[in-house]
Amino acid sequence: MPSCIEWGQERHRECTRTEDQGYKECTRSRDKGYSECCTWWPCSWLCNAWVWVSNIVCVAWTWVSNIVCIAWTWISTAVCVVWDVVTTVVNAVLVTIESILGWVLSAVGFIIELILAIPVLGALIRWVLNGITHIVSIVVGIGDGILGALGIRPEKKLRVCTVILRDETGKAVATTPFVVALLQVAVDVYKRDANIRIIPAGPFKYATGFAGAEKVDSRWVTRDTGNSGAALLDAPCGGGGDWLETGAGFQLKSGTLCLFASWRRVVGYGAPITCFIVRSIPGPMPSSGCALWITDYATVVGETTLPPSSPRTLGHELGHACGLIHACVDDDNKNMMATADGCSPATTSTGSDRVNPRMTDQQAIWVRMSKHVTYF
Ligand SMILES: [Zn+2]
Repeated sequence: MPSCIEWGQERHRECTRTEDQGYKECTRSRDKGYSECCTWWPCSWLCNAWVWVSNIVCVAWTWVSNIVCIAWTWISTAVCVVWDVVTTVVNAVLVTIESILGWVLSAVGFIIELILAIPVLGALIRWVLNGITHIVSIVVGIGDGILGALGIRPEKKLRVCTVILRDETGKAVATTPFVVALLQVAVDVYKRDANIRIIPAGPFKYATGFAGAEKVDSRWVTRDTGNSGAALLDAPCGGGGDWLETGAGFQLKSGTLCLFASWRRVVGYGAPITCFIVRSIPGPMPSSGCALWITDYATVVGETTLPPSSPRTLGHELGHACGLIHACVDDDNKNMMATADGCSPATTSTGSDRVNPRMTDQQAIWVRMSKHVTYF
């Protein structure tokens, strides 16, 4: 079912819930009012009349609010559906063109990316470029963010390219099914809570707002054919390494293993996020994933050497890449951006929260404004 309509139905139910709640509230304050009225005439008479009128106003107000709520739901759902129809059609054309011409653009992009893979100098250019495109996309996305806050969230796309690294001996640091499962959790959460369709970066990937989340399979995952050294396999989390061997290595692998849409990485619009499955992320507090908003890649620890990453790790890192910070609000153990150590010790995730994490409305709107998340 189109997600816009699902969204509308949910909003409709919310209107009804609010209405029922409103009527109950009216009745409660009416009964309370009567019981608190004075007992002597004419005070009692005036008081009763006042309560009676207030109740009518309360009921009428609830009734009108409900009509406004439902009308708005209808309008926003209709706008969302029309938007989806238009973007689906335009998308079909653009995806076809990009699938053919994209290789030429990506070849140009690749040459630029070779320069970006030079330590220090390349990193400097990347950070300046990414900083600018990040800010520009947020400014441009403000209108979309406002619509999103009003409940109009047509489908957007987020491109990912996932690479399993090999260690010094040629052993892959993760199995494909493990990574497919991580991706599926992210794909489902982003679609359900933000109406973002995560797709693998590649040609002929048509997106439509009229279908559920993607079904991830092994074709989403690239197994690196070369071996990597510790600079990539065990890169600590933080921007420092990105300026030297680590950043250069990841940049080069993004350019070669995720060539398609490399021009988007350079331009910034709909830039794919490369998810590298690594051996470990050491540090004062070893981590199972790492991503910075200033880079176009994320790292997630595989399952062959360390205890496996929590199922939500990949979606969590994509969130960081799109500018989200850790969320330690109430209910935080269920949130995709919650951490076991960063939040209060009492909140430890249960198994199902890890498999089925949630994104708040605010997070969804913020992610939708990221340069990685676009309509086309
Ligand atoms: Zn985090």
